[in-house]
Amino acid sequence: MAKTPYKIFLTEEEMPKFWYNLKAVMKELPDPMLHPGTLKPMTKDDLRQVFCDELVDQELNTKDQYIEIPEELRNFYKMYRPSPLIRAYCLEEALDTPAEIYYKFEGTNTSGSHKLNSAAAQVYYAHQQGITSLTTETGAGQWGTALAMACAYYGLDLTVYMVKISAEQKPYRKAVMETYGATVIPSPSATTAAGRAILAANPETGGSLGCAISEALEKAMTTENARYVLGSVLDHVLLHQSIIGEETRIACEKYGIEPDIIIGCAGGGSNFGGLIAPFMGDKIHGKNKIHFIAVEPASCPSLTRGRYAYDFGDTGRMTPLLKMYTLGSGFMPPPNHAGGLRYHGMSSIISKLYHDGLIEARAVEQTKVFAAATMFARQEGILPAPESAHALKVAIDEALKCKETGEKKTILFGLTGTGYFDLSAYRSYNEGTLSDRIPTDEELEKGFATLPRADC
Ligand SMILES: *Cc1c(COP(=O)(O)O)cnc(C)c1O
Repeated sequence: MAKTPYKIFLTEEEMPKFWYNLKAVMKELPDPMLHPGTLKPMTKDDLRQVFCDELVDQELNTKDQYIEIPEELRNFYKMYRPSPLIRAYCLEEALDTPAEIYYKFEGTNTSGSHKLNSAAAQVYYAHQQGITSLTTETGAGQWGTALAMACAYYGLDLTVYMVKISAEQKPYRKAVMETYGATVIPSPSATTAAGRAILAANPETGGSLGCAISEALEKAMTTENARYVLGSVLDHVLLHQSIIGEETRIACEKYGIEPDIIIGCAGGGSNFGGLIAPFMGDKIHGKNKIHFIAVEPASCPSLTRGRYAYDFGDTGRMTPLLKMYTLGSGFMPPPNHAGGLRYHGMSSIISKLYHDGLIEARAVEQTKVFAAATMFARQEGILPAPESAHALKVAIDEALKCKETGEKKTILFGLTGTGYFDLSAYRSYNEGTLSDRIPTDEELEKGFATLPRADC
């Protein structure tokens, strides 16, 4: 086999035509989503009031291993995909490791992350159904930006409730979304009853993701022909992100690359779930022995220190109950610059795979994450998003282990995005003022106390 190139691109013809539905190959399924009022599994009709019909079908599909990506959507994907699988030759050399390191880079579109993969799909189906406006929330802003791009393309109105403190800290994110035509409202706002109630109680609040979700949901329910969309956690989002894994699998086959370890960062679990999907399917079928590692921040350790329980998806306790590893919907993570990883829970699919021992989880501290990010930027040239650098940190750890043992493992990780909007975090790191805040057991107990009663 010839030396693998620095960048492995697929041709348009080689691009995947199907998403990979992990639920169709899992030996045991995750427990179903429950209605918060009746505590019965959510039905199609329940879900259709909030989400587009096709997305509801995908959410509940446990039968079809492959689900076709509509041709029109494949054409949208062609504007920024296939994304490259890159051999980190320069990093390998700097680490002096016998390991081979590869990363799948999702930061090649303007939103700067993998989130566009699901945004494009969700907006496509909304458009097909004749929906005219969408609402969502955004914290760090990557999801809002991705959705604004897709809505601009398909001609849908978009209202984004952006956590107020983030809107103030990242004014340029807001400008990008507005350039794509979205209406960005700092949350809490006076535009919804939920927002007004929060403002009345606490006029100075900087907002939270939970509060922004409540406002976006209310806005969708009270706007004609509108739906709400979510950028992670749900099964249909993981399904859309499986394009990352499918492209990776095809690229690996093309060059005879056989990963021993696959690593991804995990906030709500969508990029990790998408990256590992076809490889995990093969592992379940006994066709490989890949070691999968999900990496989370030590400040928000849902897999490594959370409880496996039914919980709400939002702080406002409006969503269905999801069985997942969770810190409790009332958990307030200490400040951390990986905004996309500050979620109290985790995808039900990833939670189940973890519970069944099919994946490992590791928590890492942000100062170490930024050290890894800086090294990577200097060796490989790409300025990684703080979220992505979590996966990178563990990839470096594993490569250094190979250096000690002399093993020539193949390590592959997901580099989910770029960090151009995270420069205040990089500046803190450079100035030496970045710190690690790890929640104490007592702080975690406060979050667990907000879990719904154990009998539901
Ligand atoms: C949102 C985000 C994540 C985390 O979300 P997942 O659903 O866990 O994939 C990771 N990296 C980047 C760059 C993000 O924007």
